[in-house]
Amino acid sequence: MRSPSGPQFAPVVGAGHQAPTGVEPLFPFLDLKAQFAGIRNEVMAAVSRVMESQQFILGKEGEAFEREVAARVGVRAALGCASGSDALLLALQALGVGAGDEVITTPFTFVATAASIARLGARPVFVDIQPETLNLDPDRIEGALSGRTRAILPVHLFGLPADLDPIFEVAKARAVPVIEDAAQAIDAGYKGSKVGSLGATGCFSFFPSKNLGGAGDGGLMTTNDLDLADHFRVLRNQGSRQRYTHEKLGMASRLDEIQAAVLRVKLRHLDDWTAARRRHAERYRALFREFGLDGHVKLTAEPLGFVHVYHQFTIRCPERERLREFLAGQGIPTQIYYPVPLHLQPAFAYLEHRAGEFPESEQASREVLSLPIYPEMSTEHQSAVVRSIAQFYGTA
Ligand SMILES: *Cc1c(COP(=O)(O)O)cnc(C)c1O
Repeated sequence: MRSPSGPQFAPVVGAGHQAPTGVEPLFPFLDLKAQFAGIRNEVMAAVSRVMESQQFILGKEGEAFEREVAARVGVRAALGCASGSDALLLALQALGVGAGDEVITTPFTFVATAASIARLGARPVFVDIQPETLNLDPDRIEGALSGRTRAILPVHLFGLPADLDPIFEVAKARAVPVIEDAAQAIDAGYKGSKVGSLGATGCFSFFPSKNLGGAGDGGLMTTNDLDLADHFRVLRNQGSRQRYTHEKLGMASRLDEIQAAVLRVKLRHLDDWTAARRRHAERYRALFREFGLDGHVKLTAEPLGFVHVYHQFTIRCPERERLREFLAGQGIPTQIYYPVPLHLQPAFAYLEHRAGEFPESEQASREVLSLPIYPEMSTEHQSAVVRSIAQFYGTA
């Protein structure tokens, strides 16, 4: 079994299975080496600067990165931490979620979203998705509320913002906070604002394969609430503000200085990278029309007022498995995010859900296929992807 972008891909893939074929991919699903080639000198200088300083935890690079991200997202505070999963955990904990509480979220997401809720002893309460956007369906939230609901946790899946306004309406009526899982969506926009600036807090991941990826794990929380920011600052550092005084039970979850230094370099290129992803998405859409594929595969919507940052470009079709195998045979790499919705994962068996409970999520898991999309991807490779799909359907 071979994953074209190496082992660092595994945690995001979920299933991780590459369609079985003896054919080498023509190009990788994600090409971090191409990205590095363009920024090598800047990255090496930044890493070297940290090595010379010998300051690795909670230093100048981290502080500068937090300021830069806060300005970019449009919030008063940003706090780094060790991973996107920890950002979610710290956010939930800081907002008072604990044992016996319930948090509403989507079952069609990466496992960390719901695992962070469960790790605090709270119960993830799943609400099905909208089939066109693959995001939490705001119309179904009302029916999932209970006296124990403590937060709503929408995910901006694949880089497309969840429809936040109707979610805020329900949340406001119940006086519960909204936590944005923005792990896949840095720089995505909702009605003129950046994601991560609208909820009580936004949680970001800098896992290497994300749109802004570090040289290891990393995460960050954003907020406009300075008390909450202070809470994050204490919780991520052993519950401590002053050395050897521990106000709360926290954890050791900081964004280290090497990560921060590398991420600051990459942040300077993010506008260009995001623009390239969006151009590629436009080109995919045009190619699908050109090749007469509209009746065969469905593309995910980009509603008016939403800015999608295309962490993934995901299509849907009922014959997904056969298409994927055909493409693999042609050397076209694809991935399935996500093959099993969370309510059917063994780790959540204790929630006692059954197949059929969240039909939209289940159907999406059977039909979705993510095509390669990354800033450095060539036009030729993109055409090759769509041409192969057209061959499969006989429209080429
Ligand atoms: C990647 C991801 C996370 C977790 O981030 P890590 O940095 O890998 O811990 C959480 N939620 C979603 C939707 C993600 O894609």
